[in-house]
Amino acid sequence: MNDPKIYTGFATKAIHIGQEPEATTGAVTVPLFQTSTYAQEEIGKHKGFEYARTHNPTRFAWEKNLAALEGGIAAFAFGSGLAAEDSLMKLLSSGDHVLCAEDMYGGTFRLFDKILTRFGITFSYVNMTDLNSVKSAMQPNTKMIYTESPTNPMMTLTDLAAVAEIAHSHNAMMVVDNTFASPYFQQPLALGADIVIHSATKYLGGHSDLVSGIVTTNHQDIADQLKFIQNAAGAVPGPFECWLLLRSTKTLAVRMKQHEKNALAVARYCENHPKVQKIFYPGLESHPQHELAKRQMKGFGGMISIELGSLENAKNFAKAIRIFTLAESLGGVESLVCHPVSMTHGSIPKEKRDQLGVTDGLVRLSCGIEDIEDLLADIEQALDKV
Ligand SMILES: *Cc1c(COP(=O)(O)O)cnc(C)c1O
Repeated sequence: MNDPKIYTGFATKAIHIGQEPEATTGAVTVPLFQTSTYAQEEIGKHKGFEYARTHNPTRFAWEKNLAALEGGIAAFAFGSGLAAEDSLMKLLSSGDHVLCAEDMYGGTFRLFDKILTRFGITFSYVNMTDLNSVKSAMQPNTKMIYTESPTNPMMTLTDLAAVAEIAHSHNAMMVVDNTFASPYFQQPLALGADIVIHSATKYLGGHSDLVSGIVTTNHQDIADQLKFIQNAAGAVPGPFECWLLLRSTKTLAVRMKQHEKNALAVARYCENHPKVQKIFYPGLESHPQHELAKRQMKGFGGMISIELGSLENAKNFAKAIRIFTLAESLGGVESLVCHPVSMTHGSIPKEKRDQLGVTDGLVRLSCGIEDIEDLLADIEQALDKV
């Protein structure tokens, strides 16, 4: 039972690694250690647990579980996806340069552009689909390439293996935000990335009931530094979030399969609908990077963006749709609809948004795991009102 080699498949790992029955009672779920500190037997003698920012068994179980799912050697959990990003950027120092994907999650751009630049770290933004621009944007002080694949909300892919090679030829680290794909569909470490970060708020949590983040790596030196930063800077999650995540991860495989099945059906429906001017979903043959998606992902995920042509059309669609809830966030069992310009991507300057295709008429769908007939009927009636 404790031999990890018997856990080979993804769902088996998700259900068992870090989730062994508890030693004292045999409880089959990991207990929630809702404590801030631990009694010590005598001065200098304790059970390896001193203070809960540093040590929490519920958090350790979740970190072990996620590391196994991504193929990392260790993982470090944080209070949110952005706390995870902020902490991992503390691997860098003043004077370092980071090369980023130009169409990232708006909050990531805001953290880099509004806060981290004040600490002497410089950032430049390139089209990660163009390997020549990536190569020519590398600087002597580039310590990190930071990308998201697929991106939020344009569903652009980075060729992770090719970009990792560029990073490594410059002795830079390759960081991938794997939030949209989840480890079920994409494992960037196996493709050459050095660090993977997740907003665990999304698919890993999967039920729209928590905010959390996690970072994993397959390098011992990076793991040692992240462990130090996690404790020294202290952006840790509470144990209850970790406990919920341990519960969520057990169904990650079945949820992702259903998210994808529904998304593909919604995408095929929208692709042929006259009110939908453009559709962005890597699972469609019409997506410019469909071949790359097939090569580096095991599936295409549950996120779709559609271009409805104008703010008015987007508003009418969002007003009419009923099962899809108008809300920020994504990756939960319930379907959500989001208007990136006014909701998640407001912090990106307008010219930049226009250039990327994040227009006033763009609507993002997070396809949940409801019955597909209901979702399609809902989209049909909402598009009628556009
Ligand atoms: C939501 C999100 C984040 C930020 O995570 P929080 O948990 O909201 O802090 C980062 N990256 C991507 C791709 C996201 O969707």
